[in-house]
Amino acid sequence: MLRSAGVVEVVKVSSLYETEPVGGPPGQGKYLDGAAEIRTSLGPHDLLKHLKQIELKAGRTPSDVRWAPREIDLDILLYGDMVIDDSELTVPHLLLHKRLFMIEPLAEIAPGALHPILKKTALEIMKGLATAEKR
Ligand code: ATP
Ligand code: CA
Ligand code: CA
Repeated sequence: MLRSAGVVEVVKVSSLYETEPVGGPPGQGKYLDGAAEIRTSLGPHDLLKHLKQIELKAGRTPSDVRWAPREIDLDILLYGDMVIDDSELTVPHLLLHKRLFMIEPLAEIAPGALHPILKKTALEIMKGLATAEKR
């Protein structure tokens, strides 16, 4: 779906990881998580708008419940080495370094991608998180 968009060129796609839902109401099914590397002429805020349109087209209905079950969720994890923090967008994603389900697919396709604030690569962050989760 990202691929057909024209303004977005998909460069690389990770495997899909089946994960248990974290947070949100009980009784949800599992999620499939993945990451894609894209090339785009859109700036970060326009990209976010674009992703939201794709979510709507895919049948996502806006919900007031935080972390409610949804058909699809497209987040921006990194945008080059940009750091953004405003009312609409936080890049790198605020929880990227805390969620194994986000960093694992990212580390698969871009192990050397640098988190511009933590100055750690995706692989380093993933190893740290994986170790912490085993404790
Ligand atoms: P999260 O993954 O942060 O726990 P979510 O993806 O479930 O939350 P949504 O309801 O999909 O949350 O999005 C809420 C808002 O988050 C969006 O409307 C968007 O403005 C904002 N947002 C901030 N940073 C990002 C980002 N990096 N990628 C996507 N949306 C973001
Ligand atoms: Ca999300
Ligand atoms: Ca989202």
